[in-house]
Amino acid sequence: MTGTKTLAIELEFEHLNLRTAHPFGISYGTSSDTENVLVRLRYDKHVGLGEAAPAEYHGETRETVMAVLSEFKKAGLVGDDPFAIVEVSRRMDRLVAGHGSAKAAIEMALHDLAGKIVGQPVSSMLGLKGLKPPMTDFTIGIDSLDVVEKKTKEALQAGYKILKVKQGTSYDKEIIKRVRKVAPDMPLRVDANGAWTPKRAIEMSKFLADNQVQFIEQPLPKAAHKEDFRYVRENSALPIFADESVCLAKDVARLAGCVDGVVVKLAKTGGLLEALRVIHTARAHGMELMFGCMIESSIGVTAAAHISALVDHLDLDGAMLLANDPFHGAEYKDGYLTLRDLPGLGVTER
Ligand SMILES: [Mg+2]
Repeated sequence: MTGTKTLAIELEFEHLNLRTAHPFGISYGTSSDTENVLVRLRYDKHVGLGEAAPAEYHGETRETVMAVLSEFKKAGLVGDDPFAIVEVSRRMDRLVAGHGSAKAAIEMALHDLAGKIVGQPVSSMLGLKGLKPPMTDFTIGIDSLDVVEKKTKEALQAGYKILKVKQGTSYDKEIIKRVRKVAPDMPLRVDANGAWTPKRAIEMSKFLADNQVQFIEQPLPKAAHKEDFRYVRENSALPIFADESVCLAKDVARLAGCVDGVVVKLAKTGGLLEALRVIHTARAHGMELMFGCMIESSIGVTAAAHISALVDHLDLDGAMLLANDPFHGAEYKDGYLTLRDLPGLGVTER
């Protein structure tokens, strides 16, 4: 044997501490600090970057991500071929169910690595070059009415073109009125993060429609029965999207006919490949799609941006909400997230 040697892909991971510019409130709670995990895959002279953004309401914490990644490392699961992404994804699913954000970190890092090796952006590798993604929104979290008004003013000044407003309080209508006072013509969508009953969702839909809101995300709890979603959809004045209730493509099929659209996120799907399956499954059922994210750095957001041209609505503001994004990836300009012309994900350390 001369000159042929099989390189193993070396998996490294460490804590990634993120802080939002403002405390970020949703119906489950409020926090300023986000505990994510950074993944590096080293192969030859290349480094693939990935990020896990675990959410407790999907059964993950930083501790579970670190434990699952340790298992993957012990099992030698990433192997020695950066182009065997489907195979690595299957190995992860065989070893452990769920844990989408941990799997997504590995999978996006493999896409980054493969793109860097051939010198092409991930979107080009997936055949998506030249497609134009929709504008992204910017999220106004739950807060006191005065702070909601202040944040809305700041968002307008910062040039954001669409707002997503969090709901799930005893004063949801007042929140919308304050936002509308400052931003009367701004395109708006809302996210109740599972806080409403079917009755309240239907009642709120009429108020929100009167306030020119586009659609409602996750009105009912994550585990709500699909017939409750169907009942809300049939009586709602606005389209209904499912977020927490849909992780994988099979969940989309289960809710077909019960919601108008679904929210796809890499932290739920376990990576870009299953995200594509979610998108295609939703399309096959005539459903709309929004691509969302958790609070995450430019690694996770940029990975999502590479396939974001396949959906109708974007909520990829995770990195824009941060005070300390340690990475430079897709850049926000005039409503759009633009990928950098670099191989792989196109993310560099600041
Ligand atoms: Mg949501």
